[in-house]
Amino acid sequence: MSPAAEQPGPIRISTPLAEVRALRPAWVDALARLGVVTVADLIKHLPMRYERLEAEAPIRDLAAGSIVTARGEISATRVRPGRRPRFEAALLDHTGRLDLVWFNQTYLKDRIFPGMRLRVQGQAKRFGPHGAWLQLVNPKWEALDEDTEVVEQESRTRPVYPASEHINSAKIELAVARVLDAALPQIEDHLSDDLRRAKDLPGLAEAYRMAHRPASEEEAAAAHRRLAYDELLLLQLGVFLRRAQVRRTMRAEPLRWSEQIDRHIRARFPFALTGAQDRVIGEVVADLMRDEPANRLIQGDVGSGKTVIALYAMLLAAASGHQAALMAPTELLAEQHFLSISEVLKGSNVRMELLTGALGRSERDAALARIAAGDADLVIGTHALLTGDVKFRSLAVVVIDEQHRFGVHQRATLRGKAAEAAGDSRTLVPHTLVMTATPIPRTLALTLLGDLDVSTIDQLPPGRMPIATRVVASEKSAEVYRFVRQRLDAGDQAYIVVPAIDTGASAAGAGGDEDLADLRSVMARLEAHELAGKRLAAMHGRLASRTRDHVMHRFRAGLIDALIATTVIEVGVDVPNATVMVIEHADMFGLAQLHQLRGRVGRGQKRSVCVLIADPKTPDAEQRLAAMAATTDGFALAERDLEIRGPGEVFGQKQAGAPPFKVADLMRDRELLVMARRDAAAWIERSPELNAPGEDLLRKRLLKLHGKWLGLGDVG
Ligand code: ADP
Ligand code: MG
Repeated sequence: MSPAAEQPGPIRISTPLAEVRALRPAWVDALARLGVVTVADLIKHLPMRYERLEAEAPIRDLAAGSIVTARGEISATRVRPGRRPRFEAALLDHTGRLDLVWFNQTYLKDRIFPGMRLRVQGQAKRFGPHGAWLQLVNPKWEALDEDTEVVEQESRTRPVYPASEHINSAKIELAVARVLDAALPQIEDHLSDDLRRAKDLPGLAEAYRMAHRPASEEEAAAAHRRLAYDELLLLQLGVFLRRAQVRRTMRAEPLRWSEQIDRHIRARFPFALTGAQDRVIGEVVADLMRDEPANRLIQGDVGSGKTVIALYAMLLAAASGHQAALMAPTELLAEQHFLSISEVLKGSNVRMELLTGALGRSERDAALARIAAGDADLVIGTHALLTGDVKFRSLAVVVIDEQHRFGVHQRATLRGKAAEAAGDSRTLVPHTLVMTATPIPRTLALTLLGDLDVSTIDQLPPGRMPIATRVVASEKSAEVYRFVRQRLDAGDQAYIVVPAIDTGASAAGAGGDEDLADLRSVMARLEAHELAGKRLAAMHGRLASRTRDHVMHRFRAGLIDALIATTVIEVGVDVPNATVMVIEHADMFGLAQLHQLRGRVGRGQKRSVCVLIADPKTPDAEQRLAAMAATTDGFALAERDLEIRGPGEVFGQKQAGAPPFKVADLMRDRELLVMARRDAAAWIERSPELNAPGEDLLRKRLLKLHGKWLGLGDVG
């Protein structure tokens, strides 16, 4: 970077901070580490909150009983041990002395030293003989240095910025102050004045001014409203734009449906469908009969019976002479699906193909040939079906089972598998159904899934008994296993889940065998002690698929009493006689995962029990376990998970490629979210390609933010 002095020029929004002479090089370096490199970056580096900074006064003039702010130099410090250990410091200015006391914060002895200059704020109290001494208890404090030695003459709302050990919030505030006035006039608004007035939103430049230099808390709130709305609106516009684009450029095979076909399919199911299953099948059928590609999320709690929905859709494809694919997240689940669907379709002429990594080369080639020739109607495999070399003759329906992450880009990949349709300029793609037992909290569904239709199975098959869940400390685990033994004696079966990094057989060689050491040691212990004499077997992703099949087969047949397993059993495993689940080190699992795991029991007519053995070490872990014990409702748990972890993580945005929100807070800004969504839908309805006059800037910004991950790059 060229030295600042050489070409200062006017400060532009795109100017690198290194060329802004008013900024110290040390700040510039520190800001760069925060990813803030240009003036624009700095303007977009928004405060995370605000605090009230009271006007400062000389110590002599501080009034006891009120919140006061003072500055001065630390003259002495000491730690007073005891039941409530405290750290004390004396602050002097030229008018007097102020005593500072912090309870239970003796670590401050490493942060506050004699000779340091501090600004402190807190409630002033008089004490000592004749109230001669003035004291602040647990005051807020900040170290002052030459850069921040500005006396606050008046009370004000002060921004608090995301900062680092290299640059504190006060200095970031100073840096912003030095570019803000030059930058603001260059900020163009992508929303029209009319729209802003109608929504009572400030202009963009004004919003940035109010965010960085609010005259009041109301101004800070107005800035937040505008910037959060923007963020939500742009995302929603992107999502709806994408949807409109799909409609214009893609088509799918419309499937045939008749009452006769319906009767035929249903005759295969060994039970009557629940009302919820019937409703969802209705929604799915309506989708599949259109020539517009379906893109539907089917959410239903663990055990709610999603598989029959998948099967119905696939059989409808077969009935219309097309193919369907079912993709599971693990080989184990793909194998389970293959077995149970084979059972259901026994004696029919539907041809099935199981495609997993377990196939030998020639077996795989033969299977691929059958799929390409259209000699396979239903293809079942793992999510790798997406990426592999699999070619279909006429793939009309794709079902993605147990999708926990809701990345739009996975579905985009799928669309990439499309074939060219003859005689139609639109690309032919399969209908897509995504199934999940990790319900998306409504809030999130509203945001990111604008391009998905959602069906919900909100009813369990009849006769299910609720699962009792207990959280037990590890020191009580002997009792837990005594209970397990009783249940096994009575003929029930159990799962014992152990946390282990289990990357599955396909990654064998990559991970070390030691990852499964935990599982092996638990297994050895149970065999020798707690469950001695019981028939135990291990289940994890590294087992050869033949071994896995064999073990599952024996477990299902009741020849194994308990499976000691990794989370491979988290999805899909369905053995109604298994009524006990023990999860070791349950604090190491996420809430969604615990719920999934627990869903392996409670599938029969008997009352099931889930025991979470845990010694939680963090408040988060404690909250997760408490939530598990409190409810078995997957939707309630998903909302709770969102509260505990925040949307970024729940959503797995990073993996999914969707940008996280910088300003909007999905919990607090629900109203804005709903408004932005409604506005965006109406907007794209009006202007489906977002290229009306006056929409240039909006469109440019939208594409820059969301074009790539939404696959909008080819727009215009
Ligand atoms: P999910 O995939 O939603 O977790 P499954 O499709 O595996 O659930 O179904 C769970 C269990 O419930 C399976 O044993 C399935 O056979 C059974 N089941 C599904 N629907 C019904 C129904 N309508 N009546 C009775 N049992 C059902
Ligand atoms: Mg399932």
